[in-house]
Amino acid sequence: MARVTCYDCGEAYRAIERKRCACGEPTWFELDTNDFDWSDVRDGGGVWRYASVLPVEPVAGLGSSSGDTPLVRTERLDDYAGCRLSVKDESQNPTGSFKDRGSAVGVTWAAQAGRDWVGTVSHGNMAMSMSAHAASRGLGCVVLVPARIPPGRLSLIAQYQPELLRVEGNYGQLYFDTLAAETDPPIEFVNSDTPLRVEGQKTVAYEICEQFAPRSPDAIVLPVSSGGHASAVWKALRELSDAGLLVDVPRLYFAQAEAVDPIAQAFTRGDETVTEVDPQETIAFSISNGSPPSGNRALAAARETGGGIRSVSEEAIREATRRLASHAGICVEPSSATTLAVIKQLTDDDEISSDEEVVAITTGTGFKELSEENVGIETTDIRLDDLEHELANAVEGR
Ligand SMILES: *Cc1c(COP(=O)(O)O)cnc(C)c1O
Ligand SMILES: [Zn+2]
Repeated sequence: MARVTCYDCGEAYRAIERKRCACGEPTWFELDTNDFDWSDVRDGGGVWRYASVLPVEPVAGLGSSSGDTPLVRTERLDDYAGCRLSVKDESQNPTGSFKDRGSAVGVTWAAQAGRDWVGTVSHGNMAMSMSAHAASRGLGCVVLVPARIPPGRLSLIAQYQPELLRVEGNYGQLYFDTLAAETDPPIEFVNSDTPLRVEGQKTVAYEICEQFAPRSPDAIVLPVSSGGHASAVWKALRELSDAGLLVDVPRLYFAQAEAVDPIAQAFTRGDETVTEVDPQETIAFSISNGSPPSGNRALAAARETGGGIRSVSEEAIREATRRLASHAGICVEPSSATTLAVIKQLTDDDEISSDEEVVAITTGTGFKELSEENVGIETTDIRLDDLEHELANAVEGR
């Protein structure tokens, strides 16, 4: 029988709906994964390839097209990155981010438990993702967005027709208030780091390790905000390690923007717990959580695997966003590009060496919100009757 446990104090709970431990830390599922082997992976079917280590039964629908994303060896970025770089391209998910993995498992669990409603607290990728997955299963979906959400972002979410509630008040507090809310019928909130979301999102690390097997990458780098994704990747590495499938456990490094970097600050100071910060403006808006609900768990993940947590400037994020497009053909949102910027920092500081295999998880597509400022547009204006001459000019000196 499945139960949830606390990574920190070890307390176990039979009520798997329990999302926070009595000690205050987040819970996650304790599943019987010790006998997992790569031969248990099923053909096709997105996240359902790893159904044998998930707490739900696979079903047709959007879950089958979530996950199973490409791992791209990006040699042309090696010089800049300072190591042997591969990109795990999560923009290939149905709504353009890794959130689809967690939504697939969360929404499927809710449907199988006979729930009619799911919900989430998000003004970006998670809101789109939950709305889309709920739509595909015919479940209702409540999405809580901040009152001052930009209209462009709202329409991306609204196309899937969730119940959109614009909230005045402390948005960070909503995470806790939604988990405590009791309604009839009940709403299954699948927030940023809740146990079902963590299960779905752990599949990204199963995929990376499967693709590298029997070796493993030296390091995996991902952006961190709430800490849900970081927790999920760490959980997967623990499970794979316990199953005897990892010779060396990859070091986990997490990336933040300097504008909102509470977890990186705690890591640098050597603190046990994360202290809330007041978020400043950043182009990496998807990673701007100033009071991360799984911040302490992310700290533990970086420390236990021998990795670290770093933050990077707005300029470094812009530069890395452009590089990913211009040298690898991969269009990501600035939040995802923090990985490349942090890898450059780590290789400059000799924390990662040039012969190491490093995987950057680029968490979300840049197609949703490209801005002139991030792209840096350069054009040449020409006349049709000068075409041949201008073409010659254009290719000269390449
Ligand atoms: C949600 C999100 C993150 C942050 O993930 P957490 O689980 O909140 O740490 C990073 N990048 C993108 C694109 C996201 O949508
Ligand atoms: Zn606990």
